[in-house]
Amino acid sequence: MIFHVLTLFPEMIENGMNTSITGRAIEKNLLQLDVRNIRDYTLDKHNHVDDAPYGGGAGMVMQAEPIYRAYKDLNVKPGTRLIYVTPQGRTFNQEIARELSNEEELVFLCGHYEGVDERVLELIATDYISIGDYVLTGGELPAMVMMDAISRLVPEVLHNHVSYEDESFSDNLLEYPQYTRPEVFEGKKVPEVLLSGHHANIARWRRNQSLLRTYERRPDLLKKVDLDKKDKKFFKEQGIDLSDKK
Ligand code: SAM
Repeated sequence: MIFHVLTLFPEMIENGMNTSITGRAIEKNLLQLDVRNIRDYTLDKHNHVDDAPYGGGAGMVMQAEPIYRAYKDLNVKPGTRLIYVTPQGRTFNQEIARELSNEEELVFLCGHYEGVDERVLELIATDYISIGDYVLTGGELPAMVMMDAISRLVPEVLHNHVSYEDESFSDNLLEYPQYTRPEVFEGKKVPEVLLSGHHANIARWRRNQSLLRTYERRPDLLKKVDLDKKDKKFFKEQGIDLSDKK
């Protein structure tokens, strides 16, 4: 997977992405990071990248020309998706991460100030994606959030596939609670079943905990889950009536 990033703050992207799991994946060439400073593509001697908005109003707007020149310089294959990270986009989630992880390369455009001249977006943006209903100062953190979530789904970036097949949102359920050594912490014991070595019982316990946790914390997700007979029996035993949730 190749991530191209158009930004005014390349060091932010480079420092963030070259750390921890994504950093190791870049070292191993499983991911390639190509960060371009939009300021390097200005034509005027003061390297201006922004100007006042036509029609007046507060703040500055990023100019079309340097962004367009930076994009052209990437020389990406026709059809390559360019994601403009913006609070005005559809909200990023695991499904979008999965969909984008199937691409060979992606371009992220990070806005700043009041945003970007609409005309360049009309020319190059294929996707408008937000990370939530709040406004940040710039698009670097949103781009990194998306690249991080996508990277984890690129083969071999994580050591074992089970880590993402089992975890939250993979099947619209939140993940079950996790425990590690010691067996007793501040008087609190690890659930007995996890020490039993009985794989089928452990799997059932985990499934039940996932169901319960999703019911308690994200009941909206349960609507999308295919519950089997055992799942329904478990909810019944807990005295939980799902008729209002499903
Ligand atoms: N004036 C813009 C508006 O109302 O939509 C907001 C501009 S914001 C201060 C500057 C830049 O940060 C945006 O161009 C975008 O790239 C990025 N940004 C801010 N919040 C974001 C969010 N929730 N998701 C994705 N990108 C965001």
